[in-house]
Amino acid sequence: MVIKKRPFNNYADYFKQLFGGRVQKISVDAGFSCPNRDGSKGTGGCTFCDNEAFNPSYCQPAKGITQQIAEGIEFHHRRYRRAKQFLVYFQAYSNTYKPLAELQKLYEEALLHPAVAGLVIGTRPDTVDKTILQYLRQLQKRAYIMLEYGVESVYDETLLRVNRGHSFAEAKSAITLTYEAGIPCGGHFIFGLPGESRQMMLESAEIISGLPLTTVKFHQLQIFKGTPMAGEYLMRREDFHLFSLEEYIDFIVEFTANLRPDLIIERFAGEVPPRFLVSPAWDRIRYDVVLQRIEKRFEEKGLYQGKFWKQK
Ligand code: SF4
Repeated sequence: MVIKKRPFNNYADYFKQLFGGRVQKISVDAGFSCPNRDGSKGTGGCTFCDNEAFNPSYCQPAKGITQQIAEGIEFHHRRYRRAKQFLVYFQAYSNTYKPLAELQKLYEEALLHPAVAGLVIGTRPDTVDKTILQYLRQLQKRAYIMLEYGVESVYDETLLRVNRGHSFAEAKSAITLTYEAGIPCGGHFIFGLPGESRQMMLESAEIISGLPLTTVKFHQLQIFKGTPMAGEYLMRREDFHLFSLEEYIDFIVEFTANLRPDLIIERFAGEVPPRFLVSPAWDRIRYDVVLQRIEKRFEEKGLYQGKFWKQK
């Protein structure tokens, strides 16, 4: 589906078309862990990871799914009164990393709420298998289901450096299996990870475009207090090139011009409360303002999503 009211395919418009009205994502924290933290893949986690930085305050596993959904709807109603339908976003940690019976219990509980139209399940590519995909395929008959994978980088040397614990090939394989199972699939990527040049990041547009993804989400690297990466940054700042806001806007506009035109873009940049950040703070500018400036830059440069993309 190609939606072209803006210089890029906007996630909110995609869901408006799909559901016939505004749909709001509500985060829940279902108390998952992550194989890169519990020892099965690693113990330290990805060096940039701090789930607390983006977890809304109402998201506490002890409350259970139903209560978090109720509080999430209330929280979002204050800002987005037009939203009548909601997608429950299993966000924190790896949300397919439990035995199938436990996953079923959690997902089914979320779908019991009458205003919930579906689930977006954020996870690691190495925690999904054919059995889970088969179950989600069945679930799709009753609700919208999307899997959202943290890919972060298309370069194995970067994934190794940030202690990601999986390769790009594993991410590609999970995305392909998900696509083949007929389940919409999103990918999350970070720009500015140590060791990647601007050129490498620009070239990743072609690689990302070759993945059978429905949606993409991009973040500038943000270094969170207390993470291993914060320590690394303070010791060796010269290894990092953190984007300034202006540089990032220029980069992301050019990157998007090289991106497959039908990919739906959920976000161009991340936003977390400044108290979590070591750097960069971008003068505490809110994401909606960043987005306006990105759209303006598309216009100034005469660019749009896919302008330079060539089908292979
Ligand atoms: S970013 Fe995701 S995969 Fe990495 S440690 Fe954090 S929860 Fe685990």
